[in-house]
Amino acid sequence: MTEIVFSQEGYCPICDAPSTFSSQYEWFRDHLVCSGCASIPRERALMRVLQEFFPNYRDLVVHESSPGGRGVSLKLGRECRNYSYSHYFDDVAPGALHPTRGERCENLEGLTFADSTIDLMISQDVMEHIFEPAAAFREIARVLKPGGAHVFTAPLVNKAKPSQRRAQRLNDGSIRHFFEPEYHGNPVDPEGSLVTMNWGYDIASFILTETGMPSVVIQIDDISSGIRAEYIEVVVSFKH
Ligand SMILES: [Zn+2]
Repeated sequence: MTEIVFSQEGYCPICDAPSTFSSQYEWFRDHLVCSGCASIPRERALMRVLQEFFPNYRDLVVHESSPGGRGVSLKLGRECRNYSYSHYFDDVAPGALHPTRGERCENLEGLTFADSTIDLMISQDVMEHIFEPAAAFREIARVLKPGGAHVFTAPLVNKAKPSQRRAQRLNDGSIRHFFEPEYHGNPVDPEGSLVTMNWGYDIASFILTETGMPSVVIQIDDISSGIRAEYIEVVVSFKH
């Protein structure tokens, strides 16, 4: 039997029901799991922010980049009348469907959506894997409707220190590493995704500079909803 180091009864904002949050490890960020939906803290934080900032989210045009297939993503897919998602496949043309998976391919650095067509762009721990984040944020701003927003999580590991680039894609396609390569799980690639950015709170200034979109960085600590961990800030960038 695996030992549970922490367990707490509460109310899950994704399940919208009572549940138990338990963890087998001290590192809650990846391990404080909801008994109902298997979500982890950053997903519940994002759901809370969606509920508070966009209580009409079910009626909005929502697109999610690289969903993980659980928690918030499944809930949005169930509840939203107009939810779509995409993954990035390097062997599929952007805008086309993957030949076997049937899932739409989109590259955040060059989206195929028309201008001003999406109310909410959602990404969960994606923006730390982008080689050209300025291009990606500009593309997201382009496709958002006025009044829309990009709601996302990304580990702001540098906190109050300046953001740092971890890796750069060179013109010949090779990758230059400034730090020891680090990979996170990728729902569509067993090799994982390279972390390209150590973001800090200055991500809000970065987005403002690149896109003109003001952002808020929201940090929630609410164990009654299983929202407690390091690096679970939610960023909301507003398209005016
Ligand atoms: Zn849940």
